[in-house]
Amino acid sequence: MKTSVAIYPGSFDPVTNGHLDLIGRGELMFDHLIVAVLKNVEKEPLFSATERVEMLKEVTKKWDSVEVDVFEGLLVDYARRRGAGVILRGIRAISDYEYELQMALMNRKLEPRLETVFMLPGESYSYLSAKLVREIAQLGGPLAGLVPPTVEQRLRSKVS
Ligand code: ADP
Repeated sequence: MKTSVAIYPGSFDPVTNGHLDLIGRGELMFDHLIVAVLKNVEKEPLFSATERVEMLKEVTKKWDSVEVDVFEGLLVDYARRRGAGVILRGIRAISDYEYELQMALMNRKLEPRLETVFMLPGESYSYLSAKLVREIAQLGGPLAGLVPPTVEQRLRSKVS
């Protein structure tokens, strides 16, 4: 029998309730879901890769088939190493589509056996991004409902 292994890659700086919504949907669909934190982001991240992994582990521990890992370099190489056949990505609005399309087609060119699957979050998360969460935290705004409580605490102490 085939086992479906999917990778959900991202910066997760930090994990938001939108990411968690997608992880919950992916957990129902795939046998094994690897949430993979991209280490070498272009800009200086707010949280280190270790902190991002810690937060993800805390908020996904209820799901046995969800694993949290960190990766560097080409996603297709990482997917090959991990034996994954699916890349999971989220589409919030049309504005995400163009970038996601470009990435998915490039990844397909690099590794034709790797399929990208897109999921839509619950509509209340369709405006939510980690970037906005960081900005709200830096300006001292309310974060309830946008990130899990443990992430909110870490954000508050990070920016204070
Ligand atoms: P962000 O764009 O919030 O900084 P990432 O770069 O970590 O997040 O995104 C990783 C993946 O998660 C991308 O496919 C992105 O579209 C998706 N994603 C991020 N936030 C949401 C959300 N609120 N709902 C659905 N998908 C999301």
